[in-house]
Amino acid sequence: MKKKIIIILGIILILVFILFSIQSINRYLAFKKYKDIGYNRKQIELIYQNISIEDRKILLENKHLNCLDKMLLSDSYIKSNFVHYIDYINNNSIEEEKIEDVLLLVNQGIINPYSDSLIKIVKEPYFIKNRLERYLNYLDSNSTKKISKVIQLVNCNLDIENNLRKTDVSKGPLMLVNSLYFLDKGYTTDLVIMEEGYSNYSDSKLNREAYEHFKNLVNDAEILGYHIRNNSSYRSYYQQEELYNQYLRDYGINYTKKYVSKPGYSEHQTGYSLDVGVDKRYASSKFQDTKEFLWMKDNSYKYGFILRYTQEGQEIFGYGYEPWHYRYVGVEAATYIYEHNITFEEYYGYFVEK
Ligand SMILES: [Zn+2]
Repeated sequence: MKKKIIIILGIILILVFILFSIQSINRYLAFKKYKDIGYNRKQIELIYQNISIEDRKILLENKHLNCLDKMLLSDSYIKSNFVHYIDYINNNSIEEEKIEDVLLLVNQGIINPYSDSLIKIVKEPYFIKNRLERYLNYLDSNSTKKISKVIQLVNCNLDIENNLRKTDVSKGPLMLVNSLYFLDKGYTTDLVIMEEGYSNYSDSKLNREAYEHFKNLVNDAEILGYHIRNNSSYRSYYQQEELYNQYLRDYGINYTKKYVSKPGYSEHQTGYSLDVGVDKRYASSKFQDTKEFLWMKDNSYKYGFILRYTQEGQEIFGYGYEPWHYRYVGVEAATYIYEHNITFEEYYGYFVEK
């Protein structure tokens, strides 16, 4: 009996030893394979820690990767993307110092051929992934343009000529109306008549939400000694049509095109825009010379209003600089636009339309 137990134990021991030996041999062989490709002990440890068993086979099928440690130790490395990194490296003959770029591209699912422009585009703060092909196409035909400009113009849909589109009015105060985005004749919004003390003209109308904010703005400014009033707010499609034709008769096509929108393309039709002045009936064009202008420029965002047609943004919105024209977009959007000094078109392209 005792003998039997000893024999069984002996067999078990031998089996364990054989198993252990096989494992060690396998491990040694695998280790040797990595060594043969050119990886050192430290790198092999990294491979075991950071690459799944399945993916290690792919590594063994490839020639030695100079950038392997750099890749595996990077904060951007994602284990499940390993095969895609290898594919991208192989397809683009990537050098060691570009490995962070590969991680950035692959992590976003981008497989376009590697180029300096591609990586610059992807690193831009307002890069939108599903517009990548459009950025690249636009850059192709406008190679002297800065990458940030390309991003800006494409985000505002200015890479497509005469691409008119109906405004998405469901966006409410964030709807975009400009020389590309238009409103229907029949568009309506919740309009209220502005009270005396807020407007230089009776029967001026504004969207209810925008008006509540405008009243707060006027009241707060008044306490500080600034007398801000509305000069022109909501205009219907037909009123805009009349105004446009009148300007055309009085000033000619060039001036009219720069300062007056065609009917349907005026922000005043949204009910969220107004031209401001002071408490006397000066023309809005003189507003820039007032202390109220300086106050509005730096404080209106707190009430949800932005200086819509800035000096710098003329290429984007296609109109001239209008220091008097303000647009209600809500406090959150207005604050962002003010702090980042971008146009509403750029904000819309990146945050609303995207
Ligand atoms: Zn205006």
